[in-house]
Amino acid sequence: MSQCVPLHLRREIRQRASQLCEYCLVHEDDVTLPHEPDHIIAVKHGGPTTAANLAWTCFLCNRAKGSDIASVDVATGEIIRLFSPRTDKWDEHFEIKGGAIVGKSQIGRVTCRLLQMHRPEQMELRQLFTEFRLYPPMTEE
Ligand SMILES: [Zn+2]
Repeated sequence: MSQCVPLHLRREIRQRASQLCEYCLVHEDDVTLPHEPDHIIAVKHGGPTTAANLAWTCFLCNRAKGSDIASVDVATGEIIRLFSPRTDKWDEHFEIKGGAIVGKSQIGRVTCRLLQMHRPEQMELRQLFTEFRLYPPMTEE
């Protein structure tokens, strides 16, 4: 619920994320719909509105994630928690192949599926950004 996040927190998490979606890594300048804060653990699950529980996300990832905190690994039937930008390292759970984001772990795979990261229009956009060297983004880690 982005409208519940105070402006100073929105600014803090936006800057911390270098204006990138913390799930699919698209930069907010490269999409038309504005990025927004995501409660990693949704308010309805008891997640607080703090920097430690917020991620900066693109509209599509945030809408697909909603208030979910886990999903089912269709290969094993196990319930697996979603990727957390605050406690997990992106590179340990995902990799980029062309325009595709591929899950490297169970967490990465269930997050990719739940957040619908393989929608054709998103993959085409990421492929186009890759051709213009806009994607994947350069990070300062
Ligand atoms: Zn995204």
